[in-house]
Amino acid sequence: MTNKIRCDKIRYASTNENSPTLTFRKALIQGQAPDKGLYIPNIFPKIYAEYILSMKDMTYPEIAFAVTNHFLKDEIPENELKRIVNEAYNYPIPLEKVTDSIFIMRLDQGPTASFKDFAARMMARLMQYYLKQENKNLLILTATSGDTGGAVADAFYGMDNINVIILFPEKEISDRQRKQMTTLGGNITTVAVEGKFDDCQSLVKQAFSDPELKHLNLSSANSINIGRLLPQTVYYFYAYSKLAKLAGEEVIFSIPSGNFGNLIGGILAKEMGLPICKFIVAVNENNEFPKFLKTGIYNPISPSIVCPSTAMNVGHPSNLARLIYVYNGQIDEKGRISRMPDMKKLRNDIFSVSISNSATMKTIKQTYEEYKIILEPHGAVGFAALQHYLSKTKDKNLIILLETANPAKFPDVINELLNFEPVLPESMKDIENKKEKFEYLPNKYQAFKEFLQNFC
Ligand SMILES: *Cc1c(COP(=O)(O)O)cnc(C)c1O
Repeated sequence: MTNKIRCDKIRYASTNENSPTLTFRKALIQGQAPDKGLYIPNIFPKIYAEYILSMKDMTYPEIAFAVTNHFLKDEIPENELKRIVNEAYNYPIPLEKVTDSIFIMRLDQGPTASFKDFAARMMARLMQYYLKQENKNLLILTATSGDTGGAVADAFYGMDNINVIILFPEKEISDRQRKQMTTLGGNITTVAVEGKFDDCQSLVKQAFSDPELKHLNLSSANSINIGRLLPQTVYYFYAYSKLAKLAGEEVIFSIPSGNFGNLIGGILAKEMGLPICKFIVAVNENNEFPKFLKTGIYNPISPSIVCPSTAMNVGHPSNLARLIYVYNGQIDEKGRISRMPDMKKLRNDIFSVSISNSATMKTIKQTYEEYKIILEPHGAVGFAALQHYLSKTKDKNLIILLETANPAKFPDVINELLNFEPVLPESMKDIENKKEKFEYLPNKYQAFKEFLQNFC
């Protein structure tokens, strides 16, 4: 790490190195650093190999407490952290066997059926804890391309002190994804924007940096918030402890990636001592990262390419700033590199490949035919990438694929390829008949600003 610290307490530094370091509490409430960088811990607490293996006998909330308490022990009482993880993680996390060495961790059993529930549910509860203590209110703004909106809406629904406004591109999300956010009401407001996801994101970013909106106490629930990332370290420890046979045994994770929040959760876990020997960073046709890894030249893709793994249609991953920072480089929010990361180490730790839309579809079909395993488009990109990796190496390591969404979120794709309707999870059955409510806004900042100023 480049930032030298004077005390041994964990603090959060901005990747742009031009803002003061903060406590977790402050970094969480603030979201993005004033210099537009992202907060990252300046120390990575260590967990020893034997202790990691002993997590084999723990429940998921117990592991979540054990891991996140390493970061939060000076900032939140143990009984509160225990309550938070117990409330947040009340659903199963299946580990499905493919072969003797390949497993799929299904992170799709939460209330909105994507892995984003893991981060959103814990972050919402942490925010509420701090806000209640300070007797403050917060207005969360979030742009969504699909899954974030639902997970954030569900996680914050009914919380005192917090209002949430979610912007979504009018024509780019599925009916089910929209209903997951528009049927709640209460402290959740949803806005259909006449534009693309990128437009929603830039409206939100403009509002954050608008001094005339400062009194609204705006914050973010996108994966630029460090509060989304700490909870995402936990399932790496969980899967490893349940599947590894020996302390210190090395493991490979394959991660279907978009904004790289999930990857950073894994990077933090590795820095904490989890013996991850390789990350397979699986991307769809938005191939800016594998190209960078190969050539050292970074070119964001704009506008991003539309693929069936919609949550991964990202032409410039926001969390790339954190990845590059951990590898001793620096890249700003626009994608300009001012200090090259240690490319040798990066290439040693990460394998990345772009999977075409046709290969994604073929993988869904083949995985079902060969193993009777149902993948959806995001997980299929991850599975195709790990097959690609295996074709180039003689590794016999344990490999764990993260399946990030439930196939029932993509009924048309599954039906077309496998000729049946995926089973709808309990949580998604309710929403079909509920009444929707949302606002419409043009893709104009002034209109959005007035909407915010009149919001109370
Ligand atoms: C958000 C999302 C991803 C991408 O995760 P990142 O943390 O942005 O890399 C992958 N799959 C699904 C289903 C998602 O919702």
